[in-house]
Parts: sequence; structure tokens; C-alpha cells
Amino acid sequence: MKTIWLVIPCYNEEEVLPETAKRLLEIHQKLVNTNKITPQSKICMVNDGSKDKTWSIISKLHNENNIFSGINLSRNRGHQNALLAGLMTAKEYADAVISLDADLQDDINVIEKFVDCFNNGYDIVYGVRSSRKTDTFFKRFTAEGFYKVMKVLGVDVVFNHADYRLMSKRALEGLSEFKEVNLFLRGIVPQIGYPSTIVEYERHERFAGESKYPLKKMLSFAFDGITSFSVKPMKIIINIGIAVFFVSIIMLLYALISKILGFAVSGWTSLIGSIWMIGGIQLLSLGIVGEYVGKIYSESKQRPRYIIQELLNEEDV
Ligand code: UDP
Ligand code: MG
Repeated sequence: MKTIWLVIPCYNEEEVLPETAKRLLEIHQKLVNTNKITPQSKICMVNDGSKDKTWSIISKLHNENNIFSGINLSRNRGHQNALLAGLMTAKEYADAVISLDADLQDDINVIEKFVDCFNNGYDIVYGVRSSRKTDTFFKRFTAEGFYKVMKVLGVDVVFNHADYRLMSKRALEGLSEFKEVNLFLRGIVPQIGYPSTIVEYERHERFAGESKYPLKKMLSFAFDGITSFSVKPMKIIINIGIAVFFVSIIMLLYALISKILGFAVSGWTSLIGSIWMIGGIQLLSLGIVGEYVGKIYSESKQRPRYIIQELLNEEDV
């Protein structure tokens, strides 16, 4: 029998946590009773610097039942870092860890399937959304676009997989070797390797509260994902540059010939057009190069990705 921890990053989730805890406890008990996981398996909630009562709810859960453990980060570090804090802590105690969101959007009934796959020798089990019926049209459209762009750019991501997955201890050891500050777990995890499989599930509506990923955060997350894993945008820019260079040579020849033949009424339109075009391309290129320089800057500082303020975990249950 294996010890399996559930890790849940929580940011301002006071509305959903009591219900989430109740339902996860039921699943936990069922798995313990059917001898699929050990009684030492925990449900670990990571408080990502919430401004509401999230941490006091987690502490209370832990005091009432030490199947619940808690990690309190020193401040808000964002979903990916909070998740990493949970995974790295859990790997010290568990044989495998399952990560999921606090809002019960991921169907928790497939946790059992995750555990079965793990027992059948898989190190990584990806939860994949079989449908996005409950997402808005906009979210569906942008998400699909994102996965397609990632594919075109040659980044290895699992289609329609968010951060609902199981990872074995050795996969987590592998993950700990990735030191990047701009963390994009969906891109990193497939890089780890080891036998992996997928489990499909239906994604539900958020149980209560609202998304902690507003549009701006979502776009920057997607952009981060692309620039952290692919230098193709830079290559595309170089190709555009080469193409524009050839076009401008042809334009120059045309201008010279028309001058020689004497029918040149200096083309104001083409002049202005090319100035704008070149200017635009230059700015765009600069921006993209700047993005990579920014990445190098933040990676070179090697700042800690999270700081744990408090850990609630009793080893003997
Ligand atoms: N989350 C977090 N820190 C943040 C933002 C979100 O720990 O700064 C957690 C949040 O509590 C939830 C998970 O990350 O458990 C996913 O967030 P959310 O459900 O709001 O995202 P969505 O499902 O709308 O993409
Ligand atoms: Mg959600």
C-alpha cells in the first residue's frame, strides 16, 4: 500500500474550503477502507497568502483531524509556486502526490483512477478534460488557441490538461531539478519523462466563489508558457526580417528604375507605408527580444520561488 498526498493550493477560498475538505475526506476514507492508500496519506492545503479566512479554516481542519495538513506561505506567490511548495513538501512524506484545485472543478471521483494507474506502474497520470461544456465560449476559445500555439511552437504539452495530476516520488525528485523561476508546470512535467498516462474527466463549474485567474493573469500565464519553452517566436521574427529585407531590395530597384525612366512622382504612400511597416516590425522584435532578456534577468537572480511560514503536519496519524 502506498502513501498518497493530495495537494491543494488555495487563494481566498474560504467559500469553498469547508465543502472541499468534506468531500476530499470522504474520498480519502473510501480509499483507506479499500486498502488503496495508507492511513498516513494526507490532504495538504497550501495557503497562498490569502486575505480571507482560508488559513484559519485550514488550521481548524488540521486541529480537528490530522489527516489534514497545512502549509502557510509567507505571502501570495501565485498558483504555480504555491503548488510547487506543496509538491516539494509532500514528496518528503509521500510515495505519490495528486495536485488539484480548491474549487472542485476537477472531478474528484477520478482520484481513485489516478491511484490505480499509479499502482499499475505509471509515474505521472495526467487528468484531461474530456469536455469544456461548463467553460464560457471565450475561455474555451482562448484555451484551445493556447494549446494549438504551443503545439505549433513544438512545446510538449498535454492537450486540455491543467494542473490536475498524479506524480510519483521519483517524478517529483525530477521536478525538483528544474530550478526555473518562471514556473510553468504543464510544460515542465512532460520533460521529466518516466511512464505516464492520461485519465479523462468532466470539468464542473466552480463550486463557489470566483475564478482567481482574471483575463490579465490568464494571458500573462499563457505568454509565460510560450516564452519559457520556445525560442521560436524569436526565429519567426528573424524570418520576417529577412523577408522584409528582400521586399525592400525589390522596392529599391523599382524606385531606381522608375527614376531612370523618368516617371517617378516620388511615392509618398509607399514611403510612409514602408516607414510604418519597418517601424512596427522593429518595435515588435524589440518587444519579443526584451521578453527573453527579461526572462534571463529574472532567472539569473535565482530568487526563492516560495517561502514557507508555517507547516502543520503530524507524522503519526
Ligand atoms: N490559486 C492560488 N494562488 C493564486 C491564484 C489561484 O493558489 O494566486 C489557486 C486557487 O485557489 C485554485 C487554483 O489556484 O485552487 C486555480 O485557480 P482558479 O480556480 O481560480 O482558476 P481557474 O479554474 O478559473 O482557471
Ligand atoms: Mg478553478
